[in-house]
Amino acid sequence: MPLFNPDIGLISHVQKYSTKDGPGIRDTVFFKGCSLGCLWCSNPELIRPHPELLYTRSKCVSCGICIDACPHGALSSDSDNFVIIEREKCATCGECVAVCPEGALELVGKEISVHELVAELLKDEIFYQTSGGGVTFSGGEPLYQAGFVYQVAEQLKRAGIHTALDTAGDVSWCRFEEVLDVIDLVLYDIKTADRALHQRLTGRDNDLILANARLLAMRDVPLHIRLVIVPGVNDGMDDLEARMEFITKLATVKQVDLLPYHCYGVGKYARLALDYPIGDLPECSDEQIEELRSSIASYGIPITIGG
Ligand code: SF4
Ligand code: SF4
Repeated sequence: MPLFNPDIGLISHVQKYSTKDGPGIRDTVFFKGCSLGCLWCSNPELIRPHPELLYTRSKCVSCGICIDACPHGALSSDSDNFVIIEREKCATCGECVAVCPEGALELVGKEISVHELVAELLKDEIFYQTSGGGVTFSGGEPLYQAGFVYQVAEQLKRAGIHTALDTAGDVSWCRFEEVLDVIDLVLYDIKTADRALHQRLTGRDNDLILANARLLAMRDVPLHIRLVIVPGVNDGMDDLEARMEFITKLATVKQVDLLPYHCYGVGKYARLALDYPIGDLPECSDEQIEELRSSIASYGIPITIGG
């Protein structure tokens, strides 16, 4: 885990008025940096724990202004006059972003102080209070920056605002200990029950994730368990049942969120000059979603779809 300053967060953005990241209307803070590399990740720009430059070729008019503006010589053009980024030279200074007339360049990842983020989140207090909502810390892995999350959440709690943590759980337990006093709800991914498959799909096994889920339940932390379903990857009924068997042993689970795979993130890989790791996949059919929903419902736990 990289070392982060607990007074300064590295986030991509604040998503306003979300209804998918916990109860009510919420602001969701997306942190940069994650320990996993899920093959289907729809937010690849949040995996690496540092700012990154995104380039949208379809917006570029090949004017070359950015190339001249770069003080580090990180930009050049290919034979079609589209921009090439030498990422090892890029200092993410943003000079090119500022001059691009087409919005083809974008920096993801900005530093923000506790005070700045709290002030931004408090602007939407009225929406939280009237809808039963609040603020969700998501990512990436927000617990990479547990010290910062604690400071922001602590101020929100003092203002009477509900707080939720959306985590993959692949961090040492002490990271949870840092924040749990100021977190009301944890949204927790169980991507598969199969240890070897988890390793293959995410780059890490699920030992720590399952152990932390048990500890959260023992600490009486309310949980919403999120089950991502990727066709042909982890959508077998055997795997679903194994996940549900595990979940039903966690006494504090309030809800299961069924998250069918979607391909919304595919375009971001090209903008980061990355290959999409999982290739062409179909999305879940309505019939498959209904079958999964019905199976989960048989365990008697409230369920949402597409959380
Ligand atoms: S962000 Fe700065 S260093 Fe990176 S390509 Fe743009 S101008 Fe050059
Ligand atoms: S300034 Fe923008 S539009 Fe012009 S070449 Fe650079 S990325 Fe393309």
